[in-house]
Amino acid sequence: MSRFWSPAIQSLVPYTPGEQPKVDGLIKLNTNENPYPPAPGVEAVLRNFSSERLRLYPDPDCQALKHALAEDAGLATNQVFVGNGSDEVLALTFMALLRQPKPLLLPETSYSFYNVYIDLFGINAQHIPLTADFRIELCDYCGENGGIIFANPNAPTSVSVDLDSIRALLERNTDSVVVVDEAYVDFGAESATQLINQFPNLLVIQTFSKSRSLAGMRVGFAFGHPDLIEALERVKNSFNSYPLDMLAQLTAIAAVEDKEYFKACVSRVIETRNWTTEQLQRLGFDVLPSHTNFVFASHAEVAAADLMQYLRDNKILVRHFTKPGIDNHLRITIGTPEEMKALIDCLQLHPEL
Ligand code: PMP
Repeated sequence: MSRFWSPAIQSLVPYTPGEQPKVDGLIKLNTNENPYPPAPGVEAVLRNFSSERLRLYPDPDCQALKHALAEDAGLATNQVFVGNGSDEVLALTFMALLRQPKPLLLPETSYSFYNVYIDLFGINAQHIPLTADFRIELCDYCGENGGIIFANPNAPTSVSVDLDSIRALLERNTDSVVVVDEAYVDFGAESATQLINQFPNLLVIQTFSKSRSLAGMRVGFAFGHPDLIEALERVKNSFNSYPLDMLAQLTAIAAVEDKEYFKACVSRVIETRNWTTEQLQRLGFDVLPSHTNFVFASHAEVAAADLMQYLRDNKILVRHFTKPGIDNHLRITIGTPEEMKALIDCLQLHPEL
């Protein structure tokens, strides 16, 4: 703390992503990374890349990547924005679109990064509780507002809302921006991307970090009406006119283009998620219905914090949140079948399970 810090910075609690330990030999099921490598075309891009090209700046407009994404989604290039991971796209969205006099509506339990921006910008926000069964009830998002943001599927709960509920929300909420954070949508939920051409106030944000196995490259993107995209471009250009480095652009294009690999990779994760859910239920866990690459599970007899520590002592990392209401749950990333078997075998040896 310093007397030179502004009041907003003095009270700021930065978002810290899940721990990234530097120890070898851990089974890492704590940060929702994909257990499989990115598409083979990504490897080919890296192998054939000549460092000589790094003398030059990358394309500041990321045209080729935007074109690949637009084509994949059936949209136009001016309906696409790209940034350094969806975290940056979210940050720019808060800056460009969600700093409004009326309150921003968002779930009380969701991706905690949203609250960092709310605090940083002093945004007037109204947090709306989840239902008793941890669902987002979009009918509760009503009344005067300066914007709405929610994750679908939600994190860390893994539960999704259907497209009809999102459409109904957009039909009754036409005067403010509705942001749907679809970081995990590819693992079985319905994407709101198909509503983009009907609703000029809809912004959908996605990432290459999960279903495309490119967390290390930091590539995220948004789909929306060209006016919303233009707002993001203006703010982005005020910070850094080169949003994505050359390799991030090239590898992301290779990842989008390999549709078969993408489908196969997502199916494997879903298959392992189903197996893991069944095994956890067999051990007495309550597992929420997941449309993500993780499950959110609790056990009536053993505290989640104790289970997290027990697993950690056995070199398996899972995520536990201390937030009241979800503090008896574990968020477990879906890894390879072998990793999930190791998790289940370890839990099975727990004296109270
Ligand atoms: N949204 C949600 C709901 C997330 O869980 C995450 C991952 N922590 C992100 C966005 C950000 O992902 P990335 O910056 O890697 O695209």
